[in-house]
Amino acid sequence: MYKQKLVLVGNGMAGLRCVESIISKDPTAFEITIFGSEPHVNYNRILLSTVLQGNTSFEDITINDRNWYTKNNIQLFTGETVIKINKETRKIITDKEREVYYDKLIIATGSVPFILPVTGVDKEGVIAFRTIEDCQKMIETSRKHKKAVVIGGGLLGLEAARGLLNLGMEVHVVHIADYLMERQLDSTASLLLQKELENQGMNFLLKKETQELIGTKRVERVRFKDGTELEADLVVMAAGVRPNIQLAKESGIDTNRAIIVNDYLETSVPNIYAVGECAEHQGIVYGLVKPLYEQGEVLAKHICKMKCNGYQGSVLSTQLKISGVELFSVGDFLGDGTTKSITTFDELDSVYKKVVFQGRKIIGAVLYGDTNNSSRLLDKILKREEVSSEEKRDLFQSPSTAEGLIASMANHEIICNCNAVSKGQSLKRFKIRD
Ligand SMILES: Cc1cc2nc3c(=O)[nH]c(=O)nc-3n(C[C@H](O)[C@H](O)[C@H](O)COP(=O)(O)OP(=O)(O)OC[C@H]3O[C@@H](n4cnc5c(N)ncnc54)[C@H](O)[C@@H]3O)c2cc1C
Repeated sequence: MYKQKLVLVGNGMAGLRCVESIISKDPTAFEITIFGSEPHVNYNRILLSTVLQGNTSFEDITINDRNWYTKNNIQLFTGETVIKINKETRKIITDKEREVYYDKLIIATGSVPFILPVTGVDKEGVIAFRTIEDCQKMIETSRKHKKAVVIGGGLLGLEAARGLLNLGMEVHVVHIADYLMERQLDSTASLLLQKELENQGMNFLLKKETQELIGTKRVERVRFKDGTELEADLVVMAAGVRPNIQLAKESGIDTNRAIIVNDYLETSVPNIYAVGECAEHQGIVYGLVKPLYEQGEVLAKHICKMKCNGYQGSVLSTQLKISGVELFSVGDFLGDGTTKSITTFDELDSVYKKVVFQGRKIIGAVLYGDTNNSSRLLDKILKREEVSSEEKRDLFQSPSTAEGLIASMANHEIICNCNAVSKGQSLKRFKIRD
């Protein structure tokens, strides 16, 4: 019997999660071929921060090893980039002049780091933070050099900075906005974060715009638009990412900021789908794995011809993976003229909580210093439930132990946000008595 040919372009987190889901739903439906530009099997990019911070190897962060691909009869081509999609003949062409026919094609090409368009970015010692090679370069640099400058005070920049501190470097974080992580935190939470990171040894330059990187062969200094300069022998660019859409664009697939997809992750070309950071759904491009996994699940159901409602967008939540920092933000945490909020601020212990309501429904929150109620808040937002006065009070009280927290949760509440695992599912999976 003819097996449909499924080709995946991009051997990263979103694409592979989708393929895993397709295999679990219909293991024999497709003959699968995967291309990845990186010379590796699929690894957990999120954990690059822990690799940089030491003690974690590539094997530790591998999600699918070579045996997994073999076991599932997947043909994997690593270190090979797809450079063209021929819509008419339904063939992809790679940089190694390989041509492969597809019945269904999934584009999951992710993002590329945004490198500031300033002079000097091509100098030795200027790197991004996206791949395992980037981590290795930072680790090597730290053996010979001591002055690191991280450009970008968002999640990625701060995690890179923490890693470089662990590697024994002197670290300055340069940020263009008034305060750190301004897309995930309000100014109060951000100031608490800055204070904690300063205590850990980080230095910050806020409201600074980079003009030029100076040096002979290797970077030596960063010059800012206000005329000031900072010494540097390593510059890490963590000023955001751009969806990797070159292949789709050149192949005649409709793009905007990313590849435009509908609720079933279909692109403008029949039988070609896009998932992950390269996809744009209803004008939104997601940059965190939870929404990308949700997209992958919808696409898997659609491709396996299972009933599904389509992708409806995701609620975003953020946590920072730096020890000593307890931080959580979700949804619309700033609010506007139509919303109301409850805020508590314990300046003595640096615990700050803000929950934003639309009517009696929670639409966003930011927590700093005590994130014990993060799962509960997320659950309320996802379920769009009205909150009773009693529940409202509980949201600001923190059970003193983890056991207390879990005991106080209802069975349907989500414990692990990455995979949307509820308390009830965990109790069943680990045979725990309620
Ligand atoms: C250091 C770091 C920390 C992070 N921390 C978090 C976190 O805490 N929480 C969170 O939710 N998210 C985090 N993220 C973001 C998360 O890793 C991404 O959202 C996720 O990896 C995106 O998955 P993707 O499959 O869309 O893209 P990727 O994982 O980037 O995969 C795309 C793959 O496609 C390959 N490719 C591109 N073009 C081609 C081509 N033409 N042919 C073949 N292959 C191609 C690329 O080389 C790449 O391997 C972090 C990211 C980084 C870098």
